[in-house]
Amino acid sequence: MKTSILAVGTELLFGQTVNTNATFLSDKLNHMGFDVMYHFVVGDNPARLKAKLEEAFSDTDLVIMTGGLGPTQDDLTKEMVAEYMGRGMYLDANVMDQLNEFFEKLGRKMTENNVKQAYLPEGCTPFYNASGTAPGFALRADGKTAICLPGPPRELKWLWDNGVREYLEQFMEKKMFYRVIRTIGIGESDLETLLMPVIDGQTDPTVATYAKEGECTLRVASQRDTIEEAEQAVQEMTARIDELVGDFIYSYDDEDLKEVVVRILKEKGLKITSAESCTGGSFAAAITDVAGASEVLSSAYVTYSNESKVREVDVPAELIERFGVVSPQVAEAMAEGARARSGADIAVSITGYAGPEADPGHEAGEAYIGFAMGDKTGHHDISTSRNDRKWNRNYYLLRMLRAVYMLINR
Ligand code: AMP
Ligand code: MG
Repeated sequence: MKTSILAVGTELLFGQTVNTNATFLSDKLNHMGFDVMYHFVVGDNPARLKAKLEEAFSDTDLVIMTGGLGPTQDDLTKEMVAEYMGRGMYLDANVMDQLNEFFEKLGRKMTENNVKQAYLPEGCTPFYNASGTAPGFALRADGKTAICLPGPPRELKWLWDNGVREYLEQFMEKKMFYRVIRTIGIGESDLETLLMPVIDGQTDPTVATYAKEGECTLRVASQRDTIEEAEQAVQEMTARIDELVGDFIYSYDDEDLKEVVVRILKEKGLKITSAESCTGGSFAAAITDVAGASEVLSSAYVTYSNESKVREVDVPAELIERFGVVSPQVAEAMAEGARARSGADIAVSITGYAGPEADPGHEAGEAYIGFAMGDKTGHHDISTSRNDRKWNRNYYLLRMLRAVYMLINR
């Protein structure tokens, strides 16, 4: 079904708010098989809102709007849509009850303008909002459907999961099943080349590659008469993909690398630690981002200065002097020291110049990861040719996660 997204709010045009609602909705709708053809953004202005609504409906049958449903004067989406579809407004008793309850709990008196939120277009399908005060709704006329949803992203997501998604299923002729496969250690063009046998001439399932933040993602999707058939088709395609590029796949279910790493560590009953210089602890932070990380990490070290590398993780001072602090030797010594000190099973370390400065004789971007596990100690040269501190630090973190993944996923 041809679909438009129309975001309403002057703050979007001022650049104060990023239009994340459009991204969110586009992603969800595409996954369901809707053809999202346009994104519109319009300020809180009735004439321009009406014009964009007309434009959107001139070429698409479903228009999903976000924003402008609040209690204030400038919130006018609802009235505009009702007018466009030739409907009056009614006071919805459910919303009224919910508003009364909401303000009672707050111990505040409801102001007059809040009542505005309880009015809905006649004949609409309401989406009651338990995560905020403004309800959403769907309104249909002449084969056209308008859906209005509140602007705050949290409320939008809540309503999506609690009503909107289900409502939209009636428009899906076919059932869609998809899976997101995540890979690491291979670029998008190489991945595509290896996958050519399954990408070339594909109709269903479709296989698409996306590059994002240092890794590549594959989306395998099928639309069939039943969800079981679609799932079956995706499973078969996944098996073929596995044969072609299985070595690079770390998740078949759209997990983050850090989640996969923590999951495997847990499954194997292994503890990890890190000794970090130029990442400033971001590896340990990534691990502790995952719920239940306490089972796999008890301590980690941020050893930024030369002295702290000696003091905290027992790097021999003469090693730093001989090879320089950014060297494979020091990276390995950091990992060994951290593992011995913490009693963990695995240690990963990093030393490098994230930029813009580097010591004489070195360039920004040079960096080494060390690792220690069992009787195995080693390092990876993960130097980049970039002098971009933020980019480098992010890349180094990914490489540390990947190094650990390679160690434990055997
Ligand atoms: P409204 O429903 O228009 O009162 O919007 C309430 C709040 O939701 C705004 O102040 C924004 O912070 C947020 N918001 C509105 N539209 C969007 C959008 N398209 N993307 C992300 N946030 C939004
Ligand atoms: Mg607004």
